[in-house]
Order: sequence, then C-alpha cells, then structure tokens
Amino acid sequence: MSLANQVAVITGGARGIGREIALAFAKAGADLALFDVNPQQLEQTAQELRALGRRAEGLVVDVTDGKQVDDGVAKVLDKLGRIDILINNAGITKDGLLIRMDDAQWDRVLNINLKGTFLCTRAVAKHMLKQRRGRIVSIASIVGLIGNPGQANYAASKAGIIGLTKSVAKELASRGITCNAIAPGFIKTEMTDALPPEAKQRLMDAIPMGTLGEPRDVAEAALFLVSDAARYVTGHVLVVDGGLAM
Ligand code: NAP
Repeated sequence: MSLANQVAVITGGARGIGREIALAFAKAGADLALFDVNPQQLEQTAQELRALGRRAEGLVVDVTDGKQVDDGVAKVLDKLGRIDILINNAGITKDGLLIRMDDAQWDRVLNINLKGTFLCTRAVAKHMLKQRRGRIVSIASIVGLIGNPGQANYAASKAGIIGLTKSVAKELASRGITCNAIAPGFIKTEMTDALPPEAKQRLMDAIPMGTLGEPRDVAEAALFLVSDAARYVTGHVLVVDGGLAM
C-alpha cells in the first residue's frame, strides 16, 4: 500500500500507537507531521522518521487549543505543501467510578479525546475540501462501543468520536474525503502498562485470541483505511481487539 507523495498529520504521534502509525506510513512512503505536547519525544520520533528517508515535522500542538491546531495546520501546509491524511490519535484516560469522578476528570478527557478530534478534523477538512481528496481516521476504542466501569468519561469521549466520524463521513463523502474510525481493544502501550497485573490477566482471559494487541496491529488497520484499497469505505468503525467486543 503506497503512500508516496502524500502528507499525513498524526496527533499524539510522538509515542505509543501514534508513533507506530507514523513509522508504518513513513515505510509506505508518506511524509509526516506530528502534533504532540512533549518536545523531546516529538523530536526523537521525527528523527526516526527522517532516518527512513522521509520529511518529518514534530510540532508542539495541544489539540485542545483551536488556535494552536489552526497554526499547526498552517505550518504543515507551509513546510510540507499539502495534507492528504489526518489521524486523530491523541487521547488520555483519567479513570474513576462515576460517583467519585470530578468535573476536571470529565472535562480533561472530553477536551483532549473528543474536542481535540473535532478541532483537528475541522482545521484539516477545510484544506481537504479545496483539494477534493482526503482521508481522516480517528482512534476510538471498543470502550466507546461496549462501555467499561470506571471509564464513563473515556467511553463517552470515544462514543462521541464514533458519532462525529459518521456525521463528518456523510458531510464530506461527495467531496472525495473518507472519514473512518478504528476501535482498538487492549493494546500494549504505556497506557495499558499502568494496569495492575491482576486486571491485565482478567483482560487476557476475556480476549478470545488470548493476548493483548500490539501498536502495529492498529497501525496496519490505519494503513488500510488511508490507502486506495479502502477508497469506497467511509463512516466505518474498524474493531481491532482480538475478538473481545464481539
Ligand atoms: P499514549 O502512549 O499515552 O500516547 C498518547 C500520545 O498523545 C502521547 O504522546 C501524549 O503526549 C499525546 N497527547 C496527550 N495529550 C495531548 C494533547 N492535548 N495534544 C496533543 N497530544 C497529546 O497512548 P496510546 O496507548 O498510544 O493511545 C493512543 C490512542 O489510542 C488514544 O486515543 C487512546 O485512547 C487510543 N486507544 C488506546 C488503547 C490501548 O490499549 N493503548 C486502546 C484503545 C484506544 P504525552 O506523552 O506528553 O502525554
């Protein structure tokens, strides 16, 4: 699946699943712009991408801030010339049972996961509409489909991403722009490393394939959705979970 001569913006691209998607896209020939908040980590990943022979910009952009997002998109257009692909991947958890969840826990998760996805999608869509071509993929979660105790905020943000994806897919389909979501199950990253060993074991027991996923499982799904192989796929939620949510 070649992405030669294409430019992809990946939010939260400095580490974890976002970094893995960036590496997969670079290997497929794309140039990359990463939006993230940690400058050292951003530069380290941008260097890895340049070592693969690609152009790569690591930009400090907090996705909750509309001005930073708009300025970031303008910088990408200035430095890399175009944007063909947006991956909305930046996301956090701040878990707690409903009756103990405070407003700040709710607001932070909804702001980064859902509002950040809206702000980046809106900024990039303006450019893609002029281009009459584009691919938008947002990283949701199976938790947005099936819920999870202790994650009301996270589940609501990820279910929101799915509604946003389908609405944007309907708005932009006639302009050559597809908009899809990926719903990963439990993937080995720093986010899931934080789980206690007993919780991890319980999860593995519930996963029909018997193991956590790897970031590259999500990266391969993203590569499919942005490739020409998926040119007729829009408004879809691709579940990548070893069978957990079925
Ligand atoms: P991760 O390792 O924590 O990486 C998330 C990245 O997003 C980090 O680089 C983080 O920066 C960055 N970020 C956080 N807030 C940001 C903001 N306001 N603006 C820009 N960037 C920001 O997480 P991950 O496990 O790779 O998860 C990536 C995505 O997949 C998330 O949306 C997550 O919800 C989703 N997902 C993950 C799993 C899983 O099992 N891991 C399952 C389903 C869905 P810092 O390093 O500075 O925090």
